[in-house]
Amino acid sequence: MTTLAVPPSLLAQAVAVRRDLHMHPELAFEEHRTAGIVAERMRALGLEVHERIGQTGVVGLLDGAQPGPTIMLRADMDALPLTEENDVPYVSRNPGVTHACGHDAHVAMLLGAVEVVRERRGELCGRIAFVFQPAEEGGGGALAMLEEGLIERFAIERAYGLHVTTIFPSGAFALRPGPLMAAVDSFDLVVEGVGGHGAMPQRAVDPVVVAADLVGGLQRIVSREIDPIEPAVITIGAINGGTTYNVIPPRVALKGTVRTFDQATRDTMEARIRRIAEHTCAAANATCSLAWHPSYPVTANDPHEAAFVRATLAAHFGAERVLESPPVMGSEDFSYFAQAVPACFWFLGAGDDEHRFPNHHPAFDIDETALGAGIAAHVAVALAGAARGSGP
Ligand SMILES: [Zn+2]
Ligand SMILES: [Zn+2]
Repeated sequence: MTTLAVPPSLLAQAVAVRRDLHMHPELAFEEHRTAGIVAERMRALGLEVHERIGQTGVVGLLDGAQPGPTIMLRADMDALPLTEENDVPYVSRNPGVTHACGHDAHVAMLLGAVEVVRERRGELCGRIAFVFQPAEEGGGGALAMLEEGLIERFAIERAYGLHVTTIFPSGAFALRPGPLMAAVDSFDLVVEGVGGHGAMPQRAVDPVVVAADLVGGLQRIVSREIDPIEPAVITIGAINGGTTYNVIPPRVALKGTVRTFDQATRDTMEARIRRIAEHTCAAANATCSLAWHPSYPVTANDPHEAAFVRATLAAHFGAERVLESPPVMGSEDFSYFAQAVPACFWFLGAGDDEHRFPNHHPAFDIDETALGAGIAAHVAVALAGAARGSGP
């Protein structure tokens, strides 16, 4: 086991960066201050810096002494629209916005890694693209960068990224080959009937009754049409229609979410929801309109890359610190990078007795000593990944 120690001064610097970003959180595609700090720091370290890719995205390129492939390491920069409930000196100064998902830590760790890899560039074969992306929280910042040609422009061959979580103990890592995080889609379903008097249903087409049929009917997709060993969830989160006791409303609007771990299952869910909605409405003489809102795809780790990351982390930190993660129902737009090139995404534990609130909780905070493990993990994967050369 070769330990890759992060010097205390670098850890202190990462903590300071993280706290500064934590105090000044910015929402999706508004990460101007954060992106400015990232670009300035990388420029000061002599990297070739490209800004405004996918609006506020930043890429820093670092060339090794030897030729080799270009691999990317990714950090997301955006915060969440909620008010922080922590009593810490570095509490958010921006009301209604907080880094409750730890993206401040992601930026601080990747900047720390830039520094270490730069010092060790004599060992580096190829080029590292340090990718700081906007808008992970629902905005699809990864896709925005890809649509501006991120992969082709910098000839990126492989992608790696990590996410802090309090689910795992501080300094531990967790990953799995194949699907790690779910795909999420949402939909709006409007049932159009014919309004009327509550005492004369025969002169109306009641969309409330149709909506009730739909809630039950849609649940049967999961129980009757999806392989029982394949995870799939459908939730109707809102039903809105009607105003009073004795009026049949003309329409009812439903909102729902679907989570899946497999693209074929995801496609099946959309098709079945559409079929059941149309036919249930038609059977009642109502009509329906379904607006499908595709969100992030499944975050699937390339098995070869997952094995590589596991072996690399185990070599540096010991196999006992590299856990097998179960599939997680959360979603990640790193999934778009993983669709573009072979990739691996993993979790970095940052929880302890003091830091146990889950990501997205208003009191989410992390054990900052985990930042050292995150920096070292980025560096280890960068150096070993580039040393592998091109191809699998
Ligand atoms: Zn999040
Ligand atoms: Zn996140």
